[in-house]
Amino acid sequence: MLLVLLGAACADQSPPPSAPFIIVLGIAQDAGYPQAGCRRACCRAAWDDPARRRHVVSLAVVNPQTSQRWLLDASPDLPQQLHELDRVTPVSDGPGIDGIFLTHGHVGHYTGLMHLGREVMGTHGVPVHVMPRMRMFLTGSGPWSQLVALGNIDLTTMEEGTAVVLGPGLRITPFLVPHRDEYTETVGFRIDGPSRSVLYLPDIDKWERWDVAIEELLEEVDVAYLDGSFFDGEELPGRDMSQIPHPFVVDSMRRWAELPEATRARVRFLHMNHTNPLLDPDSDASRAVREAGFRVARQGERVDL
Ligand SMILES: [Zn+2]
Ligand SMILES: [Zn+2]
Ligand SMILES: [Zn+2]
Repeated sequence: MLLVLLGAACADQSPPPSAPFIIVLGIAQDAGYPQAGCRRACCRAAWDDPARRRHVVSLAVVNPQTSQRWLLDASPDLPQQLHELDRVTPVSDGPGIDGIFLTHGHVGHYTGLMHLGREVMGTHGVPVHVMPRMRMFLTGSGPWSQLVALGNIDLTTMEEGTAVVLGPGLRITPFLVPHRDEYTETVGFRIDGPSRSVLYLPDIDKWERWDVAIEELLEEVDVAYLDGSFFDGEELPGRDMSQIPHPFVVDSMRRWAELPEATRARVRFLHMNHTNPLLDPDSDASRAVREAGFRVARQGERVDL
């Protein structure tokens, strides 16, 4: 698989202003931030101050030359995310979605599809790129099967390691990762543009349980958006930490501490749980991440490809 993923990454030249780009539409775990029913300190400020709220994780890939826009994951916050995307890159009419790439069948990553149905936008044939089990999941039961039956979405099955070409010099390649796969398999995406490459991997089990060395991928890309669901075990008192199926940020930072500075700087954590202090840029945890040479993804940030 690595051979397929190898590409012309890490180019030195800066992309021109007309280059395709990625924009981060959300950085929170599936539940969003603040989380339903949470009255604790982690969410209190965000309930009181809407400016502190964050959308569920999703990226958009935009080609300004053709006014095309693709979504990576369809989050429950899709209405607001589409609106914010319109502000950055307006389209003349229609939903302006040229395709959606889904990572897996957990609620934060596909339920935004409901806004494409007849009760909302009633779209026509929006290409939705899925892995085989995800396809079965969507066609197997309502309300998702109705989107297919009515032609609101047009499912396209992806193959691991095989790129989907979006245009000249722009492609997206899925790769399988271990995760709690109750309904579907789980993939991450590698996005290759004319000058730069980006990794999008919001959900994965512990790094040790993957048969790919994440460090090798970090050498190949320019920016890596990686699972930062939990900062450390302190967030979940009373839970057996070995049973939490995500890499803790502190463990990831320890694992990568000896990597070159330039490699560490590519890492941007996202998919933060509501308990995660990285949601607050001024927290001690956010400072510790910066001081260790890593970064935390911020909603609205952009990477030129
Ligand atoms: Zn998730
Ligand atoms: Zn909370
Ligand atoms: Zn998940």
